[in-house]
Amino acid sequence: MLEPGDVLITAEAIQARVADLAEEIRAHYAEPPVLLGLMNGALFFLNDLLRCLPPEAEFQCSTISSYAGTKSTGRIRGLDTISEGLRGREVLVIDDVLDTGLTLSEVRAHLRKLGAGETRICVLLRKNVERSAEVEAHWVGFDIGEEFVVGYGLDYDGKYRSFEDIRVMRDTG
Ligand code: 5GP
Ligand code: MG
Repeated sequence: MLEPGDVLITAEAIQARVADLAEEIRAHYAEPPVLLGLMNGALFFLNDLLRCLPPEAEFQCSTISSYAGTKSTGRIRGLDTISEGLRGREVLVIDDVLDTGLTLSEVRAHLRKLGAGETRICVLLRKNVERSAEVEAHWVGFDIGEEFVVGYGLDYDGKYRSFEDIRVMRDTG
C-alpha cells in the first residue's frame, strides 16, 4: 500500500522559492503575461505565485491530466479546456511537475495552434528522468529525483493535495 512518507520539501522552503521565482519572472517581463495554470496539480503554486506578481497579472486555468495512480498513461486529456482567448497573448504556463515532458510539449503545441504569443514554462518540480518529449522549463522551483510526491496541490488518486509541504509516497507493503 502506498502512503505519504518523509517530507522532501518543507512549506517554508516552498514559500521562499516561490517568492524568488516570482522575482525572476517579474524581472523578465515588461508586461505581465497571462498565466495558464494546469489544474489540478498547479492550484497551490499558481495561487502563491500570483500573489507575488503585479496585480495586473491575469490568469486562466485548464484541466489537463495524464496520470492514473503513480503512472503516466501517456495520453493527455483536456487540451480543449485551454481558452481560445489566448490568441496573440504572451503566456506563462504554470505546472506542478515536469516528468516525461509529454503534458507540457502537448500544451505548448496546442498554444501554438491557437496562435498564442511567446510561451514560457514555469514548473514547481522537475524530475531527473529521461524525457519522452523534448521540453525545457524556463523557471524551475526544485529539481528532484524519480520519486512520486504529493502535497502542495499534488495528489495520489485525488488525495493528499492539501499538505503544505511536499512528501514522498512510500510503499508500506
Ligand atoms: P509528464 O506529462 O511530464 O509526464 O507529467 C506531468 C504531469 O504528471 C504533472 O503535471 C503531474 O500532474 C503528474 N505527475 C508527474 N509526477 C508526479 C508526482 O510525482 N506526483 C504527482 N502527484 N503528480 C505527478
Ligand atoms: Mg499536472
